[in-house]
Amino acid sequence: MSIPPGSTIGILGGGQLGRMMAVAAARLGYQCHILDPHERPCAAEVSACFTRAGFDDVEALRRFGAQCDVVTYEFENIPVAPLAVLGDRLVPGTRSLEVAQDRASEKRFLEGCGVRVAPWREVGGTEEIVAALDALGSPILLKSRRYGYDGKGQAWVHRAEEAEAAWQAIGRQPAVAEARMLFDAEFSVILARGRNGESSAFPLTRNRHEGGILRTSTVPAGPAIDAMADVAIAAARAIGDRLDHVGVLTVEYFACAEGPIVNEIAPRVHNSGHWTIEGAYTSQFEQHLRAILGLPLGDPSPVTGGATMENLIGSDVERWTDIVAEPGAMLHLYHKGEARSGRKMGHVTRLK
Ligand code: AMP
Repeated sequence: MSIPPGSTIGILGGGQLGRMMAVAAARLGYQCHILDPHERPCAAEVSACFTRAGFDDVEALRRFGAQCDVVTYEFENIPVAPLAVLGDRLVPGTRSLEVAQDRASEKRFLEGCGVRVAPWREVGGTEEIVAALDALGSPILLKSRRYGYDGKGQAWVHRAEEAEAAWQAIGRQPAVAEARMLFDAEFSVILARGRNGESSAFPLTRNRHEGGILRTSTVPAGPAIDAMADVAIAAARAIGDRLDHVGVLTVEYFACAEGPIVNEIAPRVHNSGHWTIEGAYTSQFEQHLRAILGLPLGDPSPVTGGATMENLIGSDVERWTDIVAEPGAMLHLYHKGEARSGRKMGHVTRLK
């Protein structure tokens, strides 16, 4: 079954990922309907329809679903139970969300797929943090199980005396503690899996983070990372198959001396795939749409020798006047309003 052009794609979440997805949808002749609790989400201004409602508003979700031919999501922190009203219309389904929105269930699931993750423990208080420090070795990284993103809800613990402050810092909520991984680099696999189970991966992307936030993504990722491509893509396929995921699935890795270690998964399009908009024959956004619409997956090959994407975070966005004058620089601004520190305001892609 494929959903033809002219149909309406519902997107839960109205951030920049939804905005770029809506632009890709328009190119293929589809229209989008955004559901988001905020007043003026940046995806709504490039979409045909907007419903302002909470993600837990079952009546609003029911009406929204009735107006869409398929519904997808652009971020994973959505309560799962109310989504039942969307039934089969929701693609990918709730299984991918459930696994990805809780770091403990994610790690257990990944281990069940035979995929390597950093040694970890569940922790629910300072005593367990101290015990994790003993078991995993110093330092450990505390991460809240839910609602963490861009380094939020995380704190390093080096010594037992720091446990209480770290527990406070993450808001005294259920967490996981991870051993520190010594890695040469970080990279991601962006995989699309179709309704028929076929899958297609973009070239591995090398990612550089600062303060837990992605700064740059580069393709080709370099020989050391590309040597891990077979293992990393096979693991991403195994994860996608186990979830019966349909759409784009992102797997973030640490490139360690002993091989690739999965940091986390995102059941959606991802910041590290933005280079594909200009840098690949099919962008990650179009690829996600093709997958959920039941169309053939597109060609993920790079159109040139590679690309670098640089995020414009907070006040970086003020550099737009220089970037817009720079030959070859492809500027994206998300129109998100105030350039708060740590907020992703736009990005720029440069092809090689
Ligand atoms: P996350 O929110 O899990 O993606 O973490 C944000 C960033 O923190 C990662 O991209 C890494 O740069 C760093 N990080 C996360 N977990 C670990 C770990 N176990 N060891 C070392 N660095 C980590």
